[in-house]
Amino acid sequence: MEVSWAMSKYIFVTGGVISSLGKGIASASIGKILESRGLKIALMKLDPYINVDPGTMNPYQHGEVYVTEDGAETDLDLGHYERFTNTLSSKFNNITTGQIYHSVISKERKGEYLGKTIQVIPHITDAIKERIRQCSKVSKADIVIVEIGGTVGDIESLPFLEASRQFKIDMGPDNVFYIHLTLIPYIKAAGEVKTKPTQHSVGTLREIGIIPDVLICRTESPLEEDVKEKISLFCNVRKEAVIESPDMESIYQVPLVFKRQILDEIILSHFKLICKFSDLKDWEKMVVNRVLNPKYKVTIAVIGKYIELQDAYKSIYEALFHGGIHNDARVEIKRIDSETLEDGKHEQILNGVSGILVPGGFGYRGIEGKIKAIKFARMNKIPFLGICLGMQCAVIEFARNVCNLKNANSTEFKATKFPVISLLAEQAKLKDLGGTMRLGAYPCKVKKNSLASRLYGKNLIHERHRHRYEFNNKFRKLFEKAGMLLSGVCAHKDLVEIIELKNHPYFIAVQFHPEFKSKPDRAHPLFSGFIQAALKRQDLANKV
Ligand code: GLN
Repeated sequence: MEVSWAMSKYIFVTGGVISSLGKGIASASIGKILESRGLKIALMKLDPYINVDPGTMNPYQHGEVYVTEDGAETDLDLGHYERFTNTLSSKFNNITTGQIYHSVISKERKGEYLGKTIQVIPHITDAIKERIRQCSKVSKADIVIVEIGGTVGDIESLPFLEASRQFKIDMGPDNVFYIHLTLIPYIKAAGEVKTKPTQHSVGTLREIGIIPDVLICRTESPLEEDVKEKISLFCNVRKEAVIESPDMESIYQVPLVFKRQILDEIILSHFKLICKFSDLKDWEKMVVNRVLNPKYKVTIAVIGKYIELQDAYKSIYEALFHGGIHNDARVEIKRIDSETLEDGKHEQILNGVSGILVPGGFGYRGIEGKIKAIKFARMNKIPFLGICLGMQCAVIEFARNVCNLKNANSTEFKATKFPVISLLAEQAKLKDLGGTMRLGAYPCKVKKNSLASRLYGKNLIHERHRHRYEFNNKFRKLFEKAGMLLSGVCAHKDLVEIIELKNHPYFIAVQFHPEFKSKPDRAHPLFSGFIQAALKRQDLANKV
C-alpha cells in the first residue's frame, strides 16, 4: 500500500553505557530497512554541544565535518545517513544546543517572550520540538528518525531527551517510537556477558520518562536466548524487541542484521503501517557480497594530518571502499602522517602503494610532506587523487617543480612571490570564522576530452565545497603551457575546480569534496576511476 504523507511518525534513537557504539550507523540502517519498505524517511542528528555547528572544531574534537548540498557544516553521522539511504540532508537535519540557545536568546532580545522568564522547560524544549517538526515539514517524511547525540546520563543531552519524551504526549503514543542502543560487554574473567550496564542505562531513561520500545544490543558475538530473556525481563521490553547487533566485518551488513530480526516489522506494527515487502536482496548483492568476497586487493596511501583518528577522514575512507566495491576489490588503506614524509623517507614509506590520495585540511603543518608525496606520485606515474587542500598542494608542487616558481605557496601558509593559491576574493572582507567558507554545492563545467569528462560522463557537474582559498587565476596560462589541464571551472565565478596531468595514467585533483556524494552502491566516479587506475598500476608492478 502506498503511504501518503499526512503527518510524520517519529523514531528517537538514544545511546547508553558508552559512546562510540555506532548510533549513527544504527540510525542509518534503520532508515535503510524502512526506506526499502517504500516509506519516505528523514534522518536527523541532535548534537548536545554548544557550538553552533562543528565547522570551527578541530577534527581531533569532532572528526570529519560533513557538508550538505545547501552548505551546512554538520556532524559526520549525516554522511552515514546519505550513504545508507536515498535521503538528501540539509541544514534542517542537524541541530545543536548552540543553535537552539541562539534562536531562543535572539527571540528574547526581540521581546518575543515579553514578560516571561525563559527556561529550559518549556522554552528550550519547545524550540527543539519546533526544529524536529520543521524537519518533518520540509522533508514530508513518513518517518523521521531522530538520533540524539551523547550518552544517556550526560547532563548536556537532557533537554533533547526531555523534548523527545514530550513528543509522545504531543503526537500520541502510536506515532512515537523509542530505540535505545546499548552495550552488552563480555567479561573474560567471568566468561560471560553482562547485562547490568544496560539495565542501569534503561533505568536512567525511565527516570527521564522514556520507556524504550526496542533495545539494540551491541555485542562482540551473538547473544544467547537466555541473555535476551534476561534483558527483556529486567529492561521491560518484549523479547523480540531485544535486537542483537554483533561486530561485523563491514558496516554495510548492519541493515541486514536488523532485517533478519524483523526490526522493520516491529516498528511498522507499532505505527500500524502496512507497507510493501522488501528483502534487501539488491543491497546484499550489490554491496555486502562484494565487500565480503572481493576478487582483488589494492593498497592506497592516504596522506593526512589527523591520521590516527579513525573519524577524521570518514567520508574519504568510505568513498575509497566504494571505489573498491565498484571494481570488485578490497581497498587496504595505508594511513600516513604527512609529517613523517618530510625528512626524506617518503620513497621508503610510499613504496608498494598503488595509489596516493591527499585529502582536505587546514594549516601549514604537514604540507611539505604532502607536496613530497604528490611529486613522488607525479614522477613515478602512481595514480593520484587530490581533494581540496590536496589539489592546492598539487598546484604548489607543480609550480615549484615544473614551472620553476621557487618557493611558490598558498597564502594560507606563507607570504610568497608566487602565490599560486590565494584567498577567494569574497573571503577578504570577512571577520567571522564560523560558517563563512565557500560552502555547499556549486556547478562546475567540465572540459570535453578530459579525464574528468570521461569519468563523469557529462560536462556539467555539481559538487560540494568547503574552502577559503583557490587556484590563483593569474597563473593559469603559465600552468597550461607547462602541461597542466585545468579541466573543470566554476562557470559563474571563473574558479578552477579540477586540474589534471595529461601524460600520467591518473593524476587528478579537485577543489571540491567528491567523497560526500559517494555511496556503496554508486561509487563516485573519481573514486571508482582512481581504484581502477590503482589496480592497473598494481597489475603492471606485479608483472615486472
Ligand atoms: N585550507 C584550504 C582552504 O581553506 C583547504 C580547505 C579544505 O581542504 N577543506 O582553502
